[in-house]
Parts: sequence; C-alpha cells; structure tokens
Amino acid sequence: MKNIQMVDLKTQYNNIKLEIDSAIKHVIDNTSFINGQEVTSFSNHLASYLEIKHVITCGNGTDALQIALMSLDLKPNDEIIVPAFTFIASAEVIGLLGYRPVMVDVDYNSFNVTAKNIEKAITINTKAIIPVHLFGQGCQMEAIMDIAKKYDLFVIEDNAQAIGADYKFINGKIQKLGTIGHIGCTSFFPSKNLGCYGDGGAIFTNDDQLAQKLRMICNHGMKERYHHEVLGVNSRLDTIQAAILDVKLKYLDQYCKLRYEAATRYSYAFKDIEELVTPSESYFSTHVYHQYTLKVLNGKRDELRKYLQDNGIPAMIYYPIPLHKQEAFLQIAHQNGEMNVSEQLSDEVLSLPMHTELDLGTIAYIISKVLQFFNK
Ligand SMILES: *Cc1c(COP(=O)(O)O)cnc(C)c1O
Repeated sequence: MKNIQMVDLKTQYNNIKLEIDSAIKHVIDNTSFINGQEVTSFSNHLASYLEIKHVITCGNGTDALQIALMSLDLKPNDEIIVPAFTFIASAEVIGLLGYRPVMVDVDYNSFNVTAKNIEKAITINTKAIIPVHLFGQGCQMEAIMDIAKKYDLFVIEDNAQAIGADYKFINGKIQKLGTIGHIGCTSFFPSKNLGCYGDGGAIFTNDDQLAQKLRMICNHGMKERYHHEVLGVNSRLDTIQAAILDVKLKYLDQYCKLRYEAATRYSYAFKDIEELVTPSESYFSTHVYHQYTLKVLNGKRDELRKYLQDNGIPAMIYYPIPLHKQEAFLQIAHQNGEMNVSEQLSDEVLSLPMHTELDLGTIAYIISKVLQFFNK
C-alpha cells in the first residue's frame, strides 16, 4: 500500500508534468515574472469559466478577502457577519481592518451559515456578510442575497473551498458559486481544488466600479503610475503561478468530478454506520468536495482518527476550535446567539483523504479500515 496522503499533489503533477513544465519554462524564458501575459490570460480564462465580468488576481485568498473589504469604504466598528465555523482567514481580515466580526452559528447538516441565522444577527451597524461555502458546497445564496437587498448590505462570498461548484436558483438558473454576491474571493493555495504551486488568490465581481477599485487597491492604490488615490497593498499573483493555473483550470471540472466520485464511494460504504454522519448534499448547490467531512458521534472521533492513523491513513480535523473561542477574537468579536452547532461540529468532524488521485484500491482500503473500526 503506497503512502496515503490527505492530498496527493505529486501524482497530480506527474499526470500533467509536460504541460506544467513547459508553461513554467516559458515564463522563465521571458523573465516576465511580474504581471506577465499569463496573468492576463489566466484571468480571462477564469472569467469566462465563471461567467463573470472581472477577475482580479492577487497574492493569496486572505488578501483577496482583505482587499474586497477595503473596497467597501466601511467605518471602524462597522459589523460584518461571518460564520463561527470556518477557517480563520474569513474573519481575521475583518478585525485587522478595524471592523467588527459578528459570528453566527452554522447549520449542522451543511456546515454552512444559514440565511436565518444571518438575519437574526443584523443590527443598524451591519454593513456586510461573508458567507463561506465550506468544504465545497454553497450557502443559501438566494436567500442571503434577498436579505442583503432588504438591509442594504454587501455580500462577499468566501469561495476558497468551492471553486467550480454550481448554484441553482429557484427559477432554474444556474450560476457558479463565487459570482452571486457583490464580490467573490478565492484562494489558489496548493491543496485547494484549483491550486497553484505556491500562494495565489483572486477576486471576482460583475460591478465595473468595484472592479476598478479592487485593481487599484491591489496595486498600491494607484491607477496611474505613482498617483496614489487610496491606500492600497501590494498583492499580486506571480506569472509562474498564473501559468500553472492556466494549465490546471482546463482540468478543474474533471478534478471536481473525481472528487465527487471518491466522495460518493465513501458515503455509500458508510451509509449503514449509525455512529457516522456522511456529508449531505443540498438541492441548490453542487458539492465539489474540497473536504470529505464526516461527523463521528458518541465521542468516538479522536479514537477513530487514531485508529486510521495507526493504519497509515491520515485524517484531519477541520476545524477543532470555532472562531468565537479563538483567543485572537475574544476582545473584538461579537457573538450572536448560541454557537451550539459550531461547538458540536468542532468535536465531531473528521475529514478523510480527498484529492483527484485517489485510486479505487486506496479508497477501498480507507473504507475497510473505517468499517473495521465500527466492527462492520
Ligand atoms: C484557504 C482559505 C482561505 C485563505 O486562503 P489563503 O490563500 O491560504 O490565504 C480563506 N478562506 C477559506 C474558507 C479557506 O479555506
């Protein structure tokens, strides 16, 4: 049995090595390391893939969120609603910019923040909502956009884990996740569904004015060279990373499909284990399984994790501490209501290996060990 990993980037690379190597070599031959043509080419290809007007690439997914927030002209202590159960980046940038993160609980089945919990947390100081499409499946975007309209709020989708997923509106219209809010953000961290070979990120919008502002903020607040209209940052996607992403974007749908197939095999095999809750799929969003996350009941999560590890199977806890309990937020975050679900999830979640190169033998081995643990 080969070494099992949470994510197998090496095999994935080997399968597209010729294309990747030649794309990287091209950038080096041209020494166009910053803002080379590959950055424009990748941005255009991603924009047509997502069917969105503007794609602004930047240094990483956390920068994407920060720059998105900076473009909204908010005031200190303005409130931004964010789920308590997510990766810290979604909320960290709010505090960094001097705004107030208002954390709300999530839904047990989908792991995602609900429109209902968001609406309960709205005050006169609320200015924006950051729904996070956790583990690869969309939040209730239609209802969230209705709330945003009603209370005049901005919506920034954190799509770092769900690039490629589709959202289905009640009228049947289908749109890519990340393109429904006023701004969408993503990360190209290597292990993400569309990952590069270092850091990278992007911001999406259909709004021309916001796009112009976002571009300006990424580039030291200037449109015209050395004329700085606002305070910005330096956040760029390296040309080499763009060249890699331009190759990998062609495979994104196939990658999503491979993840989905692996997830389906896991879920089918585990369906009769009473102490496991397999991921649920909603009717309004496809699932691109950035993570395959189980809920392990009756306090057996850590025991199962250890059993798998002893059998050469890595399994990870995303996320062990909800954000409202993180020390960094104790002073600044507001908590809206009870966080029972986020807390329960932190005790129950366990993510199994999930990537595009999981072969049937490996999946069968992982399944057999999980079944064995539960004496099945
Ligand atoms: C990965 C991730 C980010 C941050 O992306 P980086 O590129 O690592 O900065 C933000 N939000 C979520 C939900 C993520 O999973």
